[in-house]
Amino acid sequence: MNSPTPTFAPMPDAQGFFGPYGGQFIPPALKQAMDEIDRAYEDIRQREDFQQELAELFADYVGRPSPIFHAKRLSAQLGGAQIHLKREDLNHTGAHKINHCLGEALLARFMGKKKVIAETGAGQHGVALATACAMVGIPCEIHMGQVDVEKEHPNVTKMRILGCKLVPVTRGAATLKEAVDSAFEEYLKNPQDYLYAIGSVVGPHPFPKMVRDFQAIIGREARAQFLAKHGRLPDFVTACVGGGSNAIGMFTAFLDDADVQLVGVEPAGEGLDKPGRHSATLTRGHPGQIHGMACYVLEEAEGVPAAVHSIASGLDYPGVGPQHSYLKDIGRVQYQTASDEEALQAFMTLSRVEGIIPALESAHAVAWAMRSAATLPADRHILVNLSGRGDKDADYVADKLGL
Ligand SMILES: *Cc1c(COP(=O)(O)O)cnc(C)c1O
Repeated sequence: MNSPTPTFAPMPDAQGFFGPYGGQFIPPALKQAMDEIDRAYEDIRQREDFQQELAELFADYVGRPSPIFHAKRLSAQLGGAQIHLKREDLNHTGAHKINHCLGEALLARFMGKKKVIAETGAGQHGVALATACAMVGIPCEIHMGQVDVEKEHPNVTKMRILGCKLVPVTRGAATLKEAVDSAFEEYLKNPQDYLYAIGSVVGPHPFPKMVRDFQAIIGREARAQFLAKHGRLPDFVTACVGGGSNAIGMFTAFLDDADVQLVGVEPAGEGLDKPGRHSATLTRGHPGQIHGMACYVLEEAEGVPAAVHSIASGLDYPGVGPQHSYLKDIGRVQYQTASDEEALQAFMTLSRVEGIIPALESAHAVAWAMRSAATLPADRHILVNLSGRGDKDADYVADKLGL
């Protein structure tokens, strides 16, 4: 199970390609800015002092390593495989996103940037970035769809308290995709002085690589923790996939473990056969381009991204990380789906059986684990990346279920 030569480590190539996906499909001025970010990143990545500072922040600021919890009651109730939860929900700010936000904020400081700009969906990236920027001491500007501003009120309040400038975006469907467009426009005004801190493993090279590297701590810890505790690796490792950062952060350490099945869970929303009412990009989309990268996309027409939906705002994006697109094509990761309804059920079950309120995003991976565990023998192990906590979703769910 321990492969000495990590076959996947060199990905992407120098141009940012994972097979046919990734790259930089952007204007020349922007390409220059991205190449500068890549050079700066490759520089600090190899510096002892940078790695040391990041490791210390992970430990003392984020609270890493996050534990793995064996959900014994849930497993027993399902009567099948054992479910284990990697508790990224216990991180400072309540989700995995703080991992790459700290990396990006440190990079911005290193490059002497004057402002960090970003989009946010559920508000988790916005809060995590505003947090990291507050600590590093760099001005931060967050663009957020008006629909999400209303739905994710607690996160909006937190961002204001943390001192970032919040820009509500009202155009189009007023969700994540429009927020990305708006933030990008602001960034283009001065790419020299600004850093666009992308919130997932998406966008032009080097972001899919860089965000993955910052998130890969999840899988590195989880693999070692699981081995130490059980003397073996899990049979399945699963995570929800929006852009794909928590999933790739979890999967990277396991890519060379051929016996470990990796499963990414996309949001089937109200049903895969209802165009515009799901966000299952790898399941229902096809290769194309969006936001400066080649990847699977959900499109209405060539070059026109489709409307997307998920009960979890952090998952409703019509593109997906280029590395996931590649891992799907080569068959190393299976991409499956969970619906709004299943995610809601998993949210309630995990809350009531284990006393853990998951983010609705993470509940998609829990839903897949619950569905699969029931069909497997009790000596099988499923490791779920519990990407975040559900405080932000509590009012919404209670309203919806009349609690
Ligand atoms: C943002 C978010 C996601 C989705 O983003 P990925 O890049 O796909 O990980 C998942 N879970 C939580 C808790 C989030 O905040």
